Amino acid sequence: MTLPIAEISYWQTTVNLAKLRNSRPLPEHSDVVILGGGITGLSTACWLQQAGIHFVLLDQNWIGSGASSRNAGLLLAGTAEHFVRLVAAVGISEAKILWDYSIKNNSLLEDFIFQNKIDCDFRKEGSLFIASSESEANELLESVKLLRQNGYGSEWLNRKELRNLFHTELYENFGGARFYEKDATFNPAKLVYGMGELLLKQRARLFPGVKVHTISETNDGVTIQTSRGQLDCHMLVLAANGYASFLHPYFQQKIEPVRGQVIATKPVSKTIPPMAMLTNFGYEYWQQTPGRQFIMGGMRWSAEEADVGKLEEKPDPKLRENLQNFLNSAFADFRPFTFTHNWTGIMGFSVDGFPIIGKLPGRNTILTAGGYTGHGMSFGFLSGKILAGIIKSGKTEENIQLFSPGRFLV
Ligand SMILES: Cc1cc2nc3c(=O)[nH]c(=O)nc-3n(C[C@H](O)[C@H](O)[C@H](O)COP(=O)(O)OP(=O)(O)OC[C@H]3O[C@@H](n4cnc5c(N)ncnc54)[C@H](O)[C@@H]3O)c2cc1C
Repeated sequence: MTLPIAEISYWQTTVNLAKLRNSRPLPEHSDVVILGGGITGLSTACWLQQAGIHFVLLDQNWIGSGASSRNAGLLLAGTAEHFVRLVAAVGISEAKILWDYSIKNNSLLEDFIFQNKIDCDFRKEGSLFIASSESEANELLESVKLLRQNGYGSEWLNRKELRNLFHTELYENFGGARFYEKDATFNPAKLVYGMGELLLKQRARLFPGVKVHTISETNDGVTIQTSRGQLDCHMLVLAANGYASFLHPYFQQKIEPVRGQVIATKPVSKTIPPMAMLTNFGYEYWQQTPGRQFIMGGMRWSAEEADVGKLEEKPDPKLRENLQNFLNSAFADFRPFTFTHNWTGIMGFSVDGFPIIGKLPGRNTILTAGGYTGHGMSFGFLSGKILAGIIKSGKTEENIQLFSPGRFLV
């Protein structure tokens, strides 16, 4: 039986995103406009603020209320693909660029959280990628070897070592997991809330409830038509994630919206280690919060078309049931679970799996970052710093050639 459940991100109930606004009227002009108040837009805002550059940040909903406060709160190096699989698909040098970028992102974000005392339950206790089949166990083991050969840490934990950590039915058959000590878990809504609060303290201009309808380039900038009137700027940062293709033709066939779904439970009496955990090639993922709730997402494969192209917010009850069944069977010792929240969020998947970061081709006035393909917390913070740097000095020191928006033209 499916019981009634709150269809809102559990994380969003732990903060009041509605407070992230200021009472000043929306101006008619700003040097820079940031479209989108997720991790990408907020990070860009923080770095612009630090550089003394004026901006306004717009979001159609509450600031931070998109994917950035609806995800699973896992901060991982690389992508969810096992490293051997990634290397086979894109080559070692490209795979390393992706990994290096995310590692740099995660350490920059960690420093930022601690320097600014953002209370977001950040726990750097590592991650476990648990094998769901013999073939996945082989891929994980090969990934550990290849990661170590390339100077990235990782360890293989066998069944006995996992049993010493905690009990789940998951590793009983295939016994093994890749452990990486530098990954982390956190409460993503508290993170974006903390960033927004910081910006408001510095008198930044944040405008929730402003939907951008159209964007057009002029001789000396960009004109934006919004639900609250026209706004002109010299530079626009388009940080709309899965919605980008509705805002600018460049993104059509380049970033596709993909819906993810998550459930949360009431606190349970037992605990698992406070690590980011994933299985089935990253398709299922979870963490247990410091308050002992389980937060679990994934299983898109069990939805029609794997929820690609779906924007509807209302969760799919069948997928919810699958997620609940997963927890009930993987953590049988923790039963009975009481499920309290079920929500969706929209990700932006790029057509080639690489993020898209920088100026739009042939344009000097529109910058973007997105297409993180489900791992934006590990990419978006550094992306914001890079975009702010380009706005400030016209260039960046970071190696983002591979992520260039112009790469699709050749
Ligand atoms: C279920 C789920 C689980 C995930 N788990 C993880 C995870 O554990 N780890 C990880 O690294 N990543 C995870 N992700 C991905 C991660 O959440 C995203 O990649 C990241 O949040 C993207 O940040 P963003 O700032 O680019 O986009 P968003 O946070 O989505 O922000 C974009 C904003 O743009 C606004 N916007 C869009 N169109 C308009 C418009 N026309 N006018 C005004 N505003 C507009 C939206 O309202 C939104 O607030 C997950 C995503 C989902 C959905």
